Amino acid sequence: MKIKSAILRSSGVAQPYTKSKPIQIETVELDPPEKGEVLVKIKAASLCHSDLSVINGSRPRPLPMALGHEASGIVEQVGEGVTNFSPGDKVICIFVPSCGHCIPCSEGRPALCEPGAAANGRGTLIGGGIRIHTETEDIAHHIGVSAFSEYVVVSENSLVKIEEDLPFEKLALFGCAVITGVGAVVNTANIKLGSTVAIVGLGGIGLSALIGAIASGAREIIAIDINENKLKQALKFGATAVFNSKDENISEKVKNYSNGGVDYAFETAGVVAAMDVAYAVTKRGGTTTTTGLPHPEHKFAFPYVSLTAEEKTIKGSYVGSCVPKRDIPRFIQMMKQGRLPVDRLVSNIISLEEINEGFDLLATGDSSRIIIKMD
Ligand SMILES: [Zn+2]
Ligand SMILES: [Zn+2]
Repeated sequence: MKIKSAILRSSGVAQPYTKSKPIQIETVELDPPEKGEVLVKIKAASLCHSDLSVINGSRPRPLPMALGHEASGIVEQVGEGVTNFSPGDKVICIFVPSCGHCIPCSEGRPALCEPGAAANGRGTLIGGGIRIHTETEDIAHHIGVSAFSEYVVVSENSLVKIEEDLPFEKLALFGCAVITGVGAVVNTANIKLGSTVAIVGLGGIGLSALIGAIASGAREIIAIDINENKLKQALKFGATAVFNSKDENISEKVKNYSNGGVDYAFETAGVVAAMDVAYAVTKRGGTTTTTGLPHPEHKFAFPYVSLTAEEKTIKGSYVGSCVPKRDIPRFIQMMKQGRLPVDRLVSNIISLEEINEGFDLLATGDSSRIIIKMD
């Protein structure tokens, strides 16, 4: 079938994207779902920093690529052997497909699925196929989803079925920002009631982590960013203190404020300077968790002795260490109860045609979650 899809053909072009237009809305051919695959009509898809990282070249991926990965939609058709989904089901897309059989999947860690990671790196579905084409070329899938499209064909292992009746733009958030940010707090760091927290980087994931820390009973939540608007927003979301990371001696200031540092620091920006701050403001015996996806060649250096003499822990958190089928329905329930108000992250609703403008806005840092609402 012919569909409209947002295609990136070259990365690293100059901003503003409103002028350089790195993404073009093209009419492309979408194959029908094959064995184990599902055709989904996309209803809402968010602009995430991981998309921006492919556009600006800090996360190299095969091109041309159909971008987008944080999304919700309705099942339109299922391929051979698919028994868990039927046409009409509401679904949220997951950006790491899990095979269910490799060692990490068997250990209950689907975010680390080995065939899933390999497929995402290649720009294919987990079965190895590419379902998006023009007349002359294949278009790579973005982390198994490619959600800035009218329809997608994805592996059934890239979907979670949702029973709740909620607006699709709210459901989309759970596909990346919420599971990554809330999951980092409740699964990876597993913070304790009454603990102290610092969050460095206040995009959709950082603000989700903030909401997760409040829900987990943190007594102090220090929000840190270079953007004053983000700091104001963090206060509205419930941060107990904010610091601008442009300040000189930012780490010393946060350590002084928190009597030697926090129990748990989270770095969500994928920037080495932010990770430096997060590690420095982690107290003796504390844990630094990063959800950041920096350029693969960037290295993070730290005083080696501090791991031993200060018993510090550094943890990586991918997809918030979530089991999406377990965690997403729980988090949605808590949002409905008002105890995990992640729906407040939606700051802008745009059309598919406004996607370049949307990425300019995301790059300024003056928004939290920009959602494309599909017709
Ligand atoms: Zn994302
Ligand atoms: Zn697996």
